[in-house]
Amino acid sequence: MEFVNVIVDISHEKLDRVFQYRVPPELEGRIQVGMQVNFPFGMGNRPMKGYVVGCTEEPDYPIDKIKTLTGIVPGSVPAESQLIALAAWMKETYGSTMNQALKTVLPVKQQIRQKQSRRIVLSMERTEAEALLAEFQRKHYRAKERVLDALLKNPEGTLDYDRASKELKATAAVLGGLQDSGVLRVESSTRYRNPLAGRFAKRAQGVILNREQRLAADGIWEGCKGNGPRTYLLHGVTGSGKTEVYMELIGRVIREGKQAIVLIPEIALTFQTVGRFYERFGDRVSVMHSRLSDGERYDQFLRAKEGSIDVMIGPRSALFAPFLHLGIIIMDEEHENSYKSENVPRYHARETAIYRAKMCGAFVVLGSATPSTDSFCRARCGEYGYYRLPDRIGRAALPQVTVVDLREELRAGNRSIFSRKLREGIQERLEKRQQTMLFLNRRGLAGFVSCRSCGKAVRCPHCDVTLSLHGDGRLRCHYCGYEQEMPGNCPSCGSPYISGFRAGTQQIEREVYRVFPGARVLRMDYDTTRSKESYETILSAFADRQADILVGTQMIVKGHDFPGVTLVGVLAADLSLYASDYRASERTFQLLTQAVGRAGRRDLPGEAVIQTYVPEHYSIRMAAKQDYEGFYEQEMLYRRLLGYPPVCGMLGIYLSGQDEHALERQAEYLGGCIRGLEVPGLSVIGPAKAALVKKKDIYRRVIYLKHQSEGTLLKIKGKLEKMTEQETVRQEIYIQYDWNPISVY
Ligand code: ADP
Ligand code: ZN
Ligand code: ZN
Repeated sequence: MEFVNVIVDISHEKLDRVFQYRVPPELEGRIQVGMQVNFPFGMGNRPMKGYVVGCTEEPDYPIDKIKTLTGIVPGSVPAESQLIALAAWMKETYGSTMNQALKTVLPVKQQIRQKQSRRIVLSMERTEAEALLAEFQRKHYRAKERVLDALLKNPEGTLDYDRASKELKATAAVLGGLQDSGVLRVESSTRYRNPLAGRFAKRAQGVILNREQRLAADGIWEGCKGNGPRTYLLHGVTGSGKTEVYMELIGRVIREGKQAIVLIPEIALTFQTVGRFYERFGDRVSVMHSRLSDGERYDQFLRAKEGSIDVMIGPRSALFAPFLHLGIIIMDEEHENSYKSENVPRYHARETAIYRAKMCGAFVVLGSATPSTDSFCRARCGEYGYYRLPDRIGRAALPQVTVVDLREELRAGNRSIFSRKLREGIQERLEKRQQTMLFLNRRGLAGFVSCRSCGKAVRCPHCDVTLSLHGDGRLRCHYCGYEQEMPGNCPSCGSPYISGFRAGTQQIEREVYRVFPGARVLRMDYDTTRSKESYETILSAFADRQADILVGTQMIVKGHDFPGVTLVGVLAADLSLYASDYRASERTFQLLTQAVGRAGRRDLPGEAVIQTYVPEHYSIRMAAKQDYEGFYEQEMLYRRLLGYPPVCGMLGIYLSGQDEHALERQAEYLGGCIRGLEVPGLSVIGPAKAALVKKKDIYRRVIYLKHQSEGTLLKIKGKLEKMTEQETVRQEIYIQYDWNPISVY
């Protein structure tokens, strides 16, 4: 016998109320998650519609208490159905409850009523109305006279209701009277908040694509229409024309009556970017981002659902725009970490986009100057199609890059944060009235310890990631839990100059003022961009040449075009190398490549100076050469050697609980169970203390699993989920899963 769980509404609060129904024999085998069904509801058995969110063979209640479905709602599949089915897949894949998954894909329903726009429409013949106007004048009906006069003066015979009542001082009684006597009628329509309204104008056509762009656009289009891959990687440096290719493809999709989703990392979602789409596709473009109010966000959901939008632009969550005929999903800067959710379900927008596209026959284009090793690996083996845009539009030369060895600066007696080369460069730019960007690579700065003499960081002997210095003065590995004392001398060269690294943007800003008095400096980091508009303000001030030097964290290296910048200085290139996870080199390469790419646009040649303690490291050498393939080959050697993704699948199991002993016991128990499965080729790392051992009085442990086949790991996850459903385990600990983790727990 089959049973289904249904929800009656899709508003957030009601998702938790799931009702169980029996599937009648005539519908058995036909019900799927996401379907809209009819059923009797409540005491009076009112007929009701709802969505199926789960199917099961085992009823949760006594059978005689369970009512029976009446049928499947005929007609077209609502957009929510697709999203509910997607949520079911996310629940299975990433591990979460159905509620957590539903809350990720469906928006918060807003109680706030939509703004109503009302207008007044003349509803009698003009000649008749003119006669009436004369009568009002004769009888000194001033208010009625003003309204009728204004209506007649408007060629379309209409007036905005609010304007009429404010400017013409027509009371509701006057307007109501005129309506009752058949002179006019009041029409109202729901007006959704459009966050882009009035900000841009639609312009003409796009550019004429060059040869490479055309090859890519046509190749992707034909591949999708034929039996080529459904996912494509478009690889090209910033400024090589990827966005024009996206827009060409979107144009074709819209001509087929379908819709497009464009995912852009929140940080790159500027007026510049959105404006280009708006200019091309007009007001059928909308945007979702974290600065929208909940009401605005809900309106975008409704607008997409009722078909008044063709293109939805936004970060990760725009993936859940309720389009009924989705044709294409674009994911720009596909290598960005922000595409991975850090909340349960810990989904990756790339995998989820590919799955959503598959569900509805759409296709996916991933774009990047520095593709993730994951995507490039799949493109190499033919799973994704691949197109490359080799050159920057209108400017072929890449910047000239110098790598400065900070150990040598120290030996030469230079203790400043600026190398001699960078200092000269900045001085020269100030004299020539050109601009400089100083980039402090602070990502992954989690208490690593390194040597100022030889540049080496202290690493885990088992996992080859850096150890982190904890409050108790001990160094710890975030994967396997290995611990050691903080050494007094460098383990590699014996130098006593070993310590944790501390330097912030503020410190650099002060140093710039000291070394270059009179220079105009802007600083951009987490502190200066906390308010709503400050991010845009700082960037546009710099673009307007209101400053000579911009100091900032990785925020400043993303997709902005500053024609005045001819020098980029990277202050401590290797900081991100010491992040204690296996993607540290990949991130370093990506950040440096992007940073270097900021120097010199259009007519002015550019220069970049990379300061580092480890100039020999391949991610620094390859970034300086802008050699993606060279980097990829080296990086894959390391991943193969240590069995990290994309060579292997990796599953993080995060356990937390209030009682440390119980947690420890359960973690050991689970670890034992997993080892007891004796899966060939499976490596089990841990259980170990998490990076954050305790958070808000909740203790945390981790177990990592690695295996060649993701399918095998998925099966193990399924078994664990079954096992931990037992009450005893569930009461003591909370378990989360994380596929191919990108940050340490
Ligand atoms: P990307 O998305 O790779 O950073 P863009 O598509 O933004 O590159 O292109 C960079 C600049 O070059 C933009 O100003 C764009 O309008 C312009 N551009 C792109 N393709 C062409 C082309 N075929 N002809 C003329 N200008 C182009
Ligand atoms: Zn050393
Ligand atoms: Zn380790």
